[in-house]
Amino acid sequence: MSEKNHFEISKHKDYLYVIKENISLVHPAYTNDPLNIYLLLGAHTALLLDTGCGLFPIKPIVDELIGKRNLLVFNTHYHWDHPLGNVEFGEVYIHENEVKLVSNPYDVSYFKDSPNEIVKVYAAQNFLIPPADVIKPLKDGDTFDLGEIVVEIIHCPGHSTGSICLLASTKELFTSDVAYYGDQFLPKKEDFPIVLKSLSKLIILFEKQENIEIYPSHRKYPCDKNLLTDLYDGITNIEKIWDRKVAFDFFESWQIDDPSGKFRYYIARE
Ligand SMILES: [Zn+2]
Repeated sequence: MSEKNHFEISKHKDYLYVIKENISLVHPAYTNDPLNIYLLLGAHTALLLDTGCGLFPIKPIVDELIGKRNLLVFNTHYHWDHPLGNVEFGEVYIHENEVKLVSNPYDVSYFKDSPNEIVKVYAAQNFLIPPADVIKPLKDGDTFDLGEIVVEIIHCPGHSTGSICLLASTKELFTSDVAYYGDQFLPKKEDFPIVLKSLSKLIILFEKQENIEIYPSHRKYPCDKNLLTDLYDGITNIEKIWDRKVAFDFFESWQIDDPSGKFRYYIARE
């Protein structure tokens, strides 16, 4: 296998590519295929949103698509499936809360017992994946001009403390792992208000602007506002179905299925 057939590349709009990677290849417990890595092409600067699992080189693909543009590389958050290709790029941005988490070699030793062949790629690096040379901090409200497209950082803690979403002036909202249809990784129950506050922040965007399309980091895209309200309602309802939880040890979580079938929740244990 090479990077050419590992990643599935699709041109979604003139200025938006999606580079898809199947994360279940690494461990079958991860069912949120595909991971969607977005590449936005401004007039003079391109923005790569996440660098993926680090299994195969992604930079050659990106270089070919961006032509002579400058390149900015952001991580939506620090979870393993988003930053492990960072080492290929000299400089990467992530929210200030998570700079430290991607500044050191990334320990993926929890994949040592994976039944899947591909973890040999991590084993060859002793399950420590090197970081980018330079990690720069992002803050809520930061904007970047790509040329004809301006993107704004929206800090949305909950899924992780430094999770960000990105709103583009071309009306795409990139929600990272803050909202998608599929398995949700949530903090412990006491911290649900943080998750709900972040979702509210995104829902409010739709009051100011109609026709925003949502591009999550996993599975289906584009989605509409219903994704945000479905997830908000689903998380609010978890308390009522709390007695249905079962232990899921690989994630050290409680697992509960949303009655709608749209989400499965993995909730951090106390
Ligand atoms: Zn995540």
